[in-house]
Amino acid sequence: MIDPRSILLRLGGIAVLLAVLAAGHAPATAQEGGGVAPPGSSTIHIVQRDENLFRIALQYGTTVEAIAAFNGIADVRVIAVGQRLLIPNAQTGASGVLVTHTVAPGDSLSELVARYHTTIEALAEANNLSNPALLYIGQRLIVPQGAGAGAQPAGSAPGTVHSVRPGQNIYRLAVQYGIPVNALVEANQLAWPAPLFFGQTLRIPGVSAPERATGLPYPLLDAQFQPLPAAQGKTLGLRLVTDGAAQISGAFMGRPLRFATHDASQHAAVFGISALAQPGIYPLTLTIDAANGQRTEITLRVQVESGGYAAEQIVLAAEQDSLLDPALTGVEDEAVARVMGGFTTQRHFDGMMGLPSAGAITSQFGTRRSYNHGALSTFHSGTDFGAGPGAPIIAPAAGVVALTEALSVRGNATIIDHGWGVYSGFWHQAEIKVKVGDVVTPGQVIGLVGSTGRSTGPHLHWELWVGGAQVDPMQWVQQSFP
Ligand SMILES: [Zn+2]
Repeated sequence: MIDPRSILLRLGGIAVLLAVLAAGHAPATAQEGGGVAPPGSSTIHIVQRDENLFRIALQYGTTVEAIAAFNGIADVRVIAVGQRLLIPNAQTGASGVLVTHTVAPGDSLSELVARYHTTIEALAEANNLSNPALLYIGQRLIVPQGAGAGAQPAGSAPGTVHSVRPGQNIYRLAVQYGIPVNALVEANQLAWPAPLFFGQTLRIPGVSAPERATGLPYPLLDAQFQPLPAAQGKTLGLRLVTDGAAQISGAFMGRPLRFATHDASQHAAVFGISALAQPGIYPLTLTIDAANGQRTEITLRVQVESGGYAAEQIVLAAEQDSLLDPALTGVEDEAVARVMGGFTTQRHFDGMMGLPSAGAITSQFGTRRSYNHGALSTFHSGTDFGAGPGAPIIAPAAGVVALTEALSVRGNATIIDHGWGVYSGFWHQAEIKVKVGDVVTPGQVIGLVGSTGRSTGPHLHWELWVGGAQVDPMQWVQQSFP
């Protein structure tokens, strides 16, 4: 998906796209559009998803009109993904640098405008925002930094934005930010005396924007979701900080969000997104019960992206067909879901997980599957490791053994409870080396690789459930949660 002539630099949550020019690389076909090649260097741009001519013009420091004329485009609203555009007089420089910003909890357009020294109009146009007030968490915004210096309205000089909370007044804010009251009044064109209201957004002149999101609804002081955007079949980690002691409950995609609280005001949760969930924007609701009895309901809009999973056909031998009998698989599936959909409050996992087998990965999580040419209604629910029969199976993280059983489809099966609704399953084992209630440590041998149950050869199937959904276990090998 990445334009081969672009270099993607990741700086924390911010990706900077630098356009690299193919100087003097204008093909003869450029003339077909009827335009005349302007002097100077040109480059070819391949249109990516979510791009429009405005963005592309901004990226190369040129104009929509120039690109349209040079490429014979009659309707500037109509360009196609994959279309090759010849960019005349492509520039690098201040306006050729594109910053993308992934919207985090608490981000508001006014705060982004202040942080990136741009305008609401430029942000809206660059991102086709029909309603700029409705951002969603995980949204990737193109930020036209310094887009047309003259476009910056008066009063949008560098500064930060403050969302007024109960009990705050202009004097307290002046003290908090160490600036004169007059400066606050002038920067926000407030009438005097200047009563403030809850939720009012004030520009704080001369104070650089904080690293983290501001503007969260009180009593939330901080909210971090990672990774963003959230995706099908992936785990979303949430960390919230409240102003004082509170209990938090919540819901997302029709399932509960269960938070663990420590130090009274720090709250964390891990949430598994179904691999079959429809990509889209979903409400995430939080109910915050403060120690003083005050209840706050908050709804955040969170984007869930496609996981980009492949599809495959699996043909089973005739004697294995009975294993597809829904009556048989249904009972076993329910028994497994009952254990792996649980929740225990003690957290055993700590940091990134290890690999449960030294074998090579032979099948990824998430691949859409159809059995014997049926519909693509299921997906590969774990990660397969190709290891020889009898090879050791290793606990990827600490936990408590919640199930050991010989099952028809999954074969010799072990389930480990890692706490906070995180469960590992290990299927098709030749031998199980632990028993229910055992406390296991990371790296401990818990069984041996085999080919029991519905299996076409010796391998380990490692399955991970988070909050009642099967998720990609390899995400937990690559990052720590929450
Ligand atoms: Zn598998």
